[in-house]
Amino acid sequence: MIIIMRNGAPQDQVTAVIDRVSQLGFKPHISPGEERTIIGVIGDERRLDESTFDLMEGVERVVRVLKPFKLASRDFHPEDTVITVNGARIGDQPVVVIGGPCSVESREQVFEAAEIVKANGGMIFRGGAFKPRTSPYSFRGMGDKGLELLAQIKSSLGLAIITEVMSPEQVPMVAGVADILQVGTRNMQNYALLDAVGRSARPVMLKRGMMSTIEELLMSAEYIMSNGNEQVILCERGIRTFETTTRNTLDVSAVPVLKELTHLPVFMDPSHASGRARYVNALSRASVAAGADGLLIEMHPHPEMALSDGAQSVSPDVYTQTIADLRRVAEAVGRSL
Ligand code: PEP
Ligand code: MN
Repeated sequence: MIIIMRNGAPQDQVTAVIDRVSQLGFKPHISPGEERTIIGVIGDERRLDESTFDLMEGVERVVRVLKPFKLASRDFHPEDTVITVNGARIGDQPVVVIGGPCSVESREQVFEAAEIVKANGGMIFRGGAFKPRTSPYSFRGMGDKGLELLAQIKSSLGLAIITEVMSPEQVPMVAGVADILQVGTRNMQNYALLDAVGRSARPVMLKRGMMSTIEELLMSAEYIMSNGNEQVILCERGIRTFETTTRNTLDVSAVPVLKELTHLPVFMDPSHASGRARYVNALSRASVAAGADGLLIEMHPHPEMALSDGAQSVSPDVYTQTIADLRRVAEAVGRSL
């Protein structure tokens, strides 16, 4: 249920409503808008009647939220959430591109990649230290040593870091280096991990499960948010369909659908979606045109030598060209990059 206060309702009326929500055993969620305050009621609202609040002073309207997600819903929080990381305003007007290799492989490799991201105006660098691999025999990342290299990138180049966290126990250690915690597609419904990142103070990028619906993605975001962490970035990274020419199918519809249902920033990952470096430019342009707030792009200084996801990693030249192309698309849809 959401309680919409009248335009300009005085603070004491707002406070009275909030107190009433708490007295009834529900958790109030306050969204102070520019014109009016919206108070969300969190809990099992089947035992709550609209009339409880309808008659209170300053209340304009009481609306039942039928969607199963609340904190993530735009009904609860009409204004876009903006998450600031290293000066990049994620979810705001500029499109934010995050680039870097799939995995951290060596000091030379990550520094070379990070210099290219920086030269292209990037403020956030990606790279996995802990890798969830389909085969246990594949390269599973450098672990702690990889995190240490990411920390060095951060201190010497001033780039913020996003890297994946795979288990609740790893959260404090990864959050010690990462500016954004990445929850991968395979862990979108790892509820213990969602609870743990929800208790962290770091923003979280939640990737859509490759077999998950948009509603399931939002319910996973709700797990993180209900633990107190409202800094969640959603990322569509391709879903499984019957199509086999691409690794996954990029669900471009997810952008307008998510922008309607939620206030959270929406990213696209054209690399995991296509599985082929040569399709990354086109899918990136489509994503920005559709209204994505940002992109997560895999770029490797020497894709043919990559220890993971080489086939989908763009070269530095293609990365640079893609950023230039995206600037023009962003401008065409009223944004910047
Ligand atoms: C990645 O970003 O390298 C990754 C493993 O992504 P996903 O979880 O989407 O497969
Ligand atoms: Mn990858």
